[in-house]
Amino acid sequence: MLNATLKELSAQLAAKNISSVELTGEYLARIERLNPSLNAFVALDREKSLAQAKSADALIAAGKSSLLTGIPFAQKDIFCAHGWPTTCGSKMLANFVAPYDAHVIEQFNRAGAVNLGKTNMDEFAMGSSNETSYFGKVKNPWNTDAVPGGSSGGSAAAVAARLAPAATGTDTGGSIRQPAALCGISGIKPTYGTVSRYGMIAFASSLDQGGPMAKSAEDCALMLNVMTGFDPRDSTSLEREKEDYTRDLEKPLVGLRIGLPKEYFAAGLSADVAQAVEAALAEYRKLGAVTVDISLPNSQLAIPVYYVLAPAEASSNLARYDGVRYGYRAPEYGDLADMYGKTRAQGFGAEVKRRIMIGTYVLSAGYYDAYYLKAQKLRRLIAQDFSAAFQQCDVIMGPTAPTTAFNLGEKSDDPVSMYLSDIYTIAVNLAGLPGMSIPCGFGSTKLPVGLQIVGDYFAEAKMLNVAHQYQKATDWHLRQPL
Ligand code: GLN
Repeated sequence: MLNATLKELSAQLAAKNISSVELTGEYLARIERLNPSLNAFVALDREKSLAQAKSADALIAAGKSSLLTGIPFAQKDIFCAHGWPTTCGSKMLANFVAPYDAHVIEQFNRAGAVNLGKTNMDEFAMGSSNETSYFGKVKNPWNTDAVPGGSSGGSAAAVAARLAPAATGTDTGGSIRQPAALCGISGIKPTYGTVSRYGMIAFASSLDQGGPMAKSAEDCALMLNVMTGFDPRDSTSLEREKEDYTRDLEKPLVGLRIGLPKEYFAAGLSADVAQAVEAALAEYRKLGAVTVDISLPNSQLAIPVYYVLAPAEASSNLARYDGVRYGYRAPEYGDLADMYGKTRAQGFGAEVKRRIMIGTYVLSAGYYDAYYLKAQKLRRLIAQDFSAAFQQCDVIMGPTAPTTAFNLGEKSDDPVSMYLSDIYTIAVNLAGLPGMSIPCGFGSTKLPVGLQIVGDYFAEAKMLNVAHQYQKATDWHLRQPL
């Protein structure tokens, strides 16, 4: 049952071979057993989850269920869920209980799904290793000395260890794809504006996007069907017709043109990752696809551009944590300015403070043109590279991350080497494009390797088709660590 797909779970529930209360109970028992060593979940509420499961069972009994009804999902702790602690991995929100549901949570609730618990994450989604969480590190279930990736590391570890059938994540620069790669699961960051950011705690608003993390592309497609949709409460939510993301899953790949950016197969890519990705490409050729050499000439600028723009937006978004309205407040202070200062000094961790300082600096009057404006112009060039590339190919492929999971502590004192973990994922966010990662083998230390698939705007159904056909021909996505 731990490897069951969402469709299979749904069929079991519909046939009343298992109830949602039983299914949820089984996952909660597994979490109780394995979470102490993995630290993937930061909040569990047995009663709340089981109450939702009970309502789901009633819907099923009344014949009013839909596909995800009764299935438990782990939710990244960046999504506000009514009555649940919502901490974003920070001391600043350690005692915050959300008074409302994020749009994504609302959609899962409307589908009759069960909230299994909130998953650990890097503080305010800033990180690539899940080591910046105020609630402690998450361990990679394939090797507990290794990081799970970040910032959605709790969700990735939970799915990989089969503590949940699937989970949600968010991706600002790679936080769905990179942890999916490092934990050997599938995850998709949709086109910017496809999933509402309402109730999703803001990091860098022009880049943040929620998405599914699951065992397979097909499961991601089914979740995306529920998670997407226009929401007037998010000014960047796109008003488009609802899509069925499963509609193209079974299409053959004959004639598919896969673009291979030369910059993604250059220095910095570790040999074992390159080998697994090459093997995946060989599999795609067997499925009838052809590969085309392409170039994304400005992609080497993606990390510096991101580390100007994302901190700029973060410095503005995080100004709201001032100890006045909600969240942490320093217990002792003098005047108002002292209260602000002490609250923020005590409530934020080191990486968050580093970003706020960088962001404030690049937005300051004397430096705005030199840094922020320049970065915005380069962002446009990076996006144009992709538009040019999609004239030559249908999807772009390459490694998701340059290495397999690194060891806990290995990069925590070296932010720049940590930032390089996202070298292949960040440009996709800057361009607003959809990107996904699927498992495609193992590296020299027996840790999973992720294959990245990037599509043109709104090409999610095509990407999921491309991923699904590969998963029908291979079994990397079925491997599990525990
Ligand atoms: N690792 C990147 C960062 O720290 C991306 C994080 C994310 O996508 N949320 O900013």
